[in-house]
Amino acid sequence: MICRNCPHYCEIKDAQSVGKCGVRKLVGDEILPANYGEITSLALDPIEKKPLSRFRPGTFILSVGSWGCNMTCPWCQNEAISRGPVQCSVMSPKEVAAKAVELSGRSGNAANVSWETLNIGVAYTYNEPLVAPEFVRDTAKLVREAGLVNVLVSNGMADPKIFESLLPYIDAMNIDLKTGDPEKYKSIGGNLDTVLANIKSAAYFVGTSKGITDENERDPQDKDDPDAKTGIYSTRTRSILNFKRSPEEVARIGRSCHVELTYLVVPGFNDTEEDIKQAAKLVAEIDPRIPFHVTRFFPAADMKNVMPTRIDVLLRLVEAAKQYLTDVIPGNI
Ligand code: SF4
Repeated sequence: MICRNCPHYCEIKDAQSVGKCGVRKLVGDEILPANYGEITSLALDPIEKKPLSRFRPGTFILSVGSWGCNMTCPWCQNEAISRGPVQCSVMSPKEVAAKAVELSGRSGNAANVSWETLNIGVAYTYNEPLVAPEFVRDTAKLVREAGLVNVLVSNGMADPKIFESLLPYIDAMNIDLKTGDPEKYKSIGGNLDTVLANIKSAAYFVGTSKGITDENERDPQDKDDPDAKTGIYSTRTRSILNFKRSPEEVARIGRSCHVELTYLVVPGFNDTEEDIKQAAKLVAEIDPRIPFHVTRFFPAADMKNVMPTRIDVLLRLVEAAKQYLTDVIPGNI
């Protein structure tokens, strides 16, 4: 069976095999994530740590991570959880949402609440959350119903259809843009076109979860819907989700999903002015106002013997990106 969750489109032959992410496996006649509800990290973080600078600044968010990733960056800053199963606790979407509500001070139980760090919602982060979009979707629905927000921190390497199906529930996201060079993306197990398509679809998405109700859930018997057995929504809902507005319309109406990007400056990979200009130009074609974090690399994973990004190099790259983008933010300095 082919997994259609990301552009690797892995063939998973039997119940003993997993895809390239190490997460998705065959269960009966379905491909499901082995890490569903397996939590490796749960922390109340400042929203700026995601990083998000222009979405509810000064607030805190319950950040939840599992394990696994569908890319192979040798500098991975979360190596301990990205490269395979690790010890974890198990929490259902309901339990995560309940914890978020408790820390928000809305549950009526003040025992565990810090009034200085009231929680605004749930961030799906640390490992790559979109190797298990089922968990994000199931949790995000409950978090939204409770009146809290959902934040996604992702490498953007999900099949566009899967990615779009989550947009009605996500209030803000930070997506990594590793490079503007398609060949370099390939060398780390990524696909530039997919990441750009998803950034565009999040940045142009205008809508709410209104109208995305159970009656719109995909009908597996729908003969007019060729993807009925593999997707989440009906043809009608998908056509709503696929609707795109022009940047001019978005500027006039406003966005429903706030988007920021992160460009980690990795020595020897993407640290020249030409490198960052190539990436910044691609972002500017989508919307030059998207906040663009240019952050420092620190030695990790297979690059433990490489020095951190020099601050003078980082600041030069920030200035180069500013030639194309209006909101460039240096990070990790
Ligand atoms: S999500 Fe995992 S199994 Fe599915 S295509 Fe991507 S890497 Fe392969």
